[in-house]
Amino acid sequence: MRHISATFTTLEHVNTFFSEKAVQDAVASAQSVLIQLFVGYQDDAWTISVVKAAQKHLPQAIIIGATSAGEIGNGRVSLESTVVSVTAFETASLHPLALEGIENAEYMAGQTIADTLQDIPDLQGILLLALPTRIHCAKVLEGIEARLPKTPVFGGGAADNLGCKHPNVFFHTRILTHGCIAVGLAGAELHIETYVSLGWQALGQQMTLTAVDGLTIISIDGHPALDIYHKYLGIHPDDEDIYLVEFPLLIERHGIQIARNPVSADTDGSVRLVADVYPDEKVRLGYLNIDLVLANTQNLLAQLETFAPEAIYLYSCICRRFTLQQDVELETYPLQALAPVAGFFTSGEFYKNGDHLQLLNSSQIVIALREGDSTVPSKQSPITPTDPTKDRYRFRHARITSRLLHFIATLSDELESANSKLLYLAEHDTLTGALNRRSLDTALTTELTRASRYGHPFALVMFDLDHFKAFNDHYGHAAGDIVLKSVAHTVRKTIRGSDLLFRFGGEEFLLLLPETATSGALKIAEKTRLAIARLSLSCAKTPLPKVTASFGVACYPQHDQDALALINAADTALYQSKAQGRNRVLAFAG
Ligand code: GH3
Ligand code: MG
Ligand code: MG
Repeated sequence: MRHISATFTTLEHVNTFFSEKAVQDAVASAQSVLIQLFVGYQDDAWTISVVKAAQKHLPQAIIIGATSAGEIGNGRVSLESTVVSVTAFETASLHPLALEGIENAEYMAGQTIADTLQDIPDLQGILLLALPTRIHCAKVLEGIEARLPKTPVFGGGAADNLGCKHPNVFFHTRILTHGCIAVGLAGAELHIETYVSLGWQALGQQMTLTAVDGLTIISIDGHPALDIYHKYLGIHPDDEDIYLVEFPLLIERHGIQIARNPVSADTDGSVRLVADVYPDEKVRLGYLNIDLVLANTQNLLAQLETFAPEAIYLYSCICRRFTLQQDVELETYPLQALAPVAGFFTSGEFYKNGDHLQLLNSSQIVIALREGDSTVPSKQSPITPTDPTKDRYRFRHARITSRLLHFIATLSDELESANSKLLYLAEHDTLTGALNRRSLDTALTTELTRASRYGHPFALVMFDLDHFKAFNDHYGHAAGDIVLKSVAHTVRKTIRGSDLLFRFGGEEFLLLLPETATSGALKIAEKTRLAIARLSLSCAKTPLPKVTASFGVACYPQHDQDALALINAADTALYQSKAQGRNRVLAFAG
């Protein structure tokens, strides 16, 4: 396999490139030739003239391409240019198909791609170029995956520098605006490995997608989605140009963190994506962290070295270029040391992540290709003289941002931990660690709603220490406090994790037992009574006498259906226990 790429701005240079001896030699004995064109303008006439130049010089080549928001040639990034990537395969075969006008039939289009390619022997992968801003690409991927669950699929979504308003993909001179192009790559000798680089850092707190309509997020945490961008990032809804893509929403899906980039906002405050999201998904704002990016690149280089690629294709999210700015070559150029690198900045990346073929955002997809056995690379001279990683002053922008990210992350961790301490204090009684009265109101309301919706029971168990005034009077308040603490501690150990213990008053406690009817509640109350009665305590090395408690049990829905009435019922039963001699358990008797 030979891979040659070059970056152009004039047709004259395009023609010169294709007639060069190196290119002609590379394709002379090739079984098949793939030309990928990445075009950084919205000019169909230009695209067609470049395609025609390629056809004239390399008539045997399969030519595909996409408009791009930044082009990558030989690892270098350029704008408003055209990158040509020529891959000459010695043995592999190429199987292209172009599907246009597939909006609202994306899943079927995916199945058509799979049906067309599935019987090809030694199919090693499918390169896909599509239009995420025009069609529902996640559905195309689902359609492919349904029929070809194991085949790697990789590629990117066409983009442009005009807010993705006029993107297209093309197959020879045929320009597609609502479709996709797939190329099956097949061959017993062909090896393809795919990698994904992420590198985002989550910022701030977790939020929930509360309303979603197709590819539009209507609200986050109950507010118009754009409010989040206004509140946390100061992006004003009335700004003429709203740039949101630099700050993706990070989502955990199938145990993997993925990102979603809003590409535009509507006047109602909803934001538009180019990839699928679902209601109730948890999101956090994210930002690309240069330190993570550099670490990923180093890992990737180490992994790829043994694979010894002959060609590398990169499909990298537009937001990586926007975010990293001039530092973006830190993750594209070092790969050039392994094999010629070509690719483009996309509006969405296609990648099989574990078992899931997904439409990604904010990612860099790296495709390494080789034909034949891996020959240990003849230690290519590392790209030292112009290696951007060596110039420590060139990348201050990303470095400073990375420090700021660290600052923000530390600050929000500190706030989060301070908040959780405050929340604990607001909900718990300081002496016993039991939940307080305020928490009882909330918990009881929640439990009542849940129990009535699902028709399940729950129980309240009220208990009060016996003759505790006399105990305090005789052994002192400090000894009384030890008893209260120990009782709470013992009771918590006796009950289940889902049961809740509240301090209802001075020496009076309440248990809320979900999913528990009267007979069960009586058993738990009895177990708790025995645990208290068995406690051996001492204060300042002086042994204290045993303490006992009296219990009253009331159940939903048997005894009442109202929160206050249930508490009163438990209290009445407790009063009965006291009247009948204390240290006992009674259920409410009507
Ligand atoms: P009964 O068996 O009828 O419940 O008798 P009792 O003496 O326990 O009832 P009473 O309500 O007369 O007394 C409750 C006592 O609980 C009064 C108070 O000294 C004690 N107490 C309430 N809160 C605390 C506390 O936080 N610490 C200590 N040490 N004692 C407390
Ligand atoms: Mg008492
Ligand atoms: Mg009392």
